[in-house]
Order: sequence, then C-alpha cells, then structure tokens
Amino acid sequence: MIEAKNLSVSYGRHIALEDVSIKLDRGDVTVVLGANGAGKTTLVNALAGMVPLLSGTVMLDGRNITFEPAHNRVKLRLATVPQGRGLFPDMSVEDNLSLGSFVSDDKDEIEFRRAEIFRVFPRLKERAKQASSTMSGGEQQMLAIGRALMSSPAYLLLDEPSLGLSPVLTSELFKTIRKIADKGVGVLLVEQNALQSLKIAEQAYLVETGRIVDQGPAQGLRYDASVIDTYLGGRKALPAPVKPKLIGN
Ligand code: ATP
Repeated sequence: MIEAKNLSVSYGRHIALEDVSIKLDRGDVTVVLGANGAGKTTLVNALAGMVPLLSGTVMLDGRNITFEPAHNRVKLRLATVPQGRGLFPDMSVEDNLSLGSFVSDDKDEIEFRRAEIFRVFPRLKERAKQASSTMSGGEQQMLAIGRALMSSPAYLLLDEPSLGLSPVLTSELFKTIRKIADKGVGVLLVEQNALQSLKIAEQAYLVETGRIVDQGPAQGLRYDASVIDTYLGGRKALPAPVKPKLIGN
C-alpha cells in the first residue's frame, strides 16, 4: 500500500497542496478528481518525488520514501506517466519502451516484459519501428503507459491519461487501466473525466484548491451530488429514471 499523510506543497507563496492524505492499494484503481488547477498534478508529483514537500510523509509498503529521489522510487516499483506523456518524439516505439526498462539489466526479463506489453497493447507491436511523434494521441498514451509498465511497477500514477482522447479511445484506455489493476498493480488515476473514471475505480478522492473535500468508494461518489454537479454536468448526467409500465395498456 502507498500511504501519503498530510502532504503540503507550495510554489513560492502559493500553497498548491494542503494537508492531503491519500491511500492506494495494489489491485485497486483509485481516482483523484478535480477541476483545472485543483492540485492533481502536484499530488502526482509529490508522490513521485518530483516536487519538494513542505510537510507530510509517503510510505510505500511500510517503507518511508518521503526523502527518496524520484529515480529511486521507480526502482521501488512506483512508476509515473506524466501529463503530456513525456515521450521522446524522434525515437521509435520500441526505443521509448526500452527507456522504461532501465531498472533491470536482465535481457530475458526485459524481453518478457516487452512481450507482455505488446499483448496488452497490440497496436504498439504493429508500430514498433515507428517514431513516437507520428503515432496518434491514443497510441502515444498507450506507449507512455507501456513504457511505465516496462519497470514492472507495483504502483502506477497516471496524470490525466484521457486528455485529448476521443470518448471511444478514452473508454478503451480505461478498460485497459482496469485490466492493469486486475493484475495486481495499484493505479492512481488523476482525471477530470469523472463519469468514466469512477466506473472503473474502487476508491475516489475529490480535490478542490489543494485540499481533499470528499472521499470514499467510487460507486458511492458517482451518486454524490457535489461530484455530479461539479464534474458530471449536473443531474442530467445520470440515467433518466425508468418510468413504470402500465399493465394492460
Ligand atoms: P490541471 O487539471 O489543469 O492540470 P491540476 O489540478 O493538475 O490542474 P496543478 O498543476 O497541480 O493542478 O496546479 C495547482 C496549482 O498550483 C495551480 O494554481 C497552478 O497554477 C499552480 N502551479 C502548478 N505548478 C506551478 C509552478 N511550477 N509554479 C507556480 N505555480 C504552480
């Protein structure tokens, strides 16, 4: 389990994250929802070790990693897919994937992982030699996740993976994220797409101006009025109530 307690982060005098506590279990998808500027990326970066903390602790499977640099966290099996994907545009798909395997020297193991990722994302196998910049947005997102999976993570942090994807691709991507979690990976899914992300998640947190304002089982939050009003476009987003059929009509 990843257990972060009382995380606070500031950029100069601006407090971007204040006293945030969050838990992430292996095998679960945990969603963090929030509007633009709520502090979601800052939370991902705080967990990944990419921004200094004002206060707080991060424990990974009982080990205190609060002061562990970002590259060590990858070795401790915490991988991150940043917003914007962070791919090397001129490098091929397979070379981008290879970069994710830096935590291991074992060629057989690396080959095994690559084959596994090609099974999850067959499109990447078809495009193995293609420069990543020439891939579609959805394919690039698959590649970014595939690259993170090359480090065989126990925990995966995904920062708005659906950004820029069509509804159909988003739905495919979220199904794949669910499958990754079902293999035992703890996925933190930071999203603005509340409706679809809550469907595949066990737990959810709601962030507003750097603070957690609601949390609980994802299925419960799907029907929470504040979530619906703020992120799902109001109550219209819920299925219309079923009208009772009149017998004998
Ligand atoms: P979005 O969904 O738009 O990506 P977010 O929820 O991920 O937003 P953050 O990127 O974490 O939000 O930003 C939280 C707040 O911190 C915002 O007000 C943002 O302007 C500010 N902020 C983020 N990064 C920096 C920085 N490097 N320097 C100064 N302020 C920053």
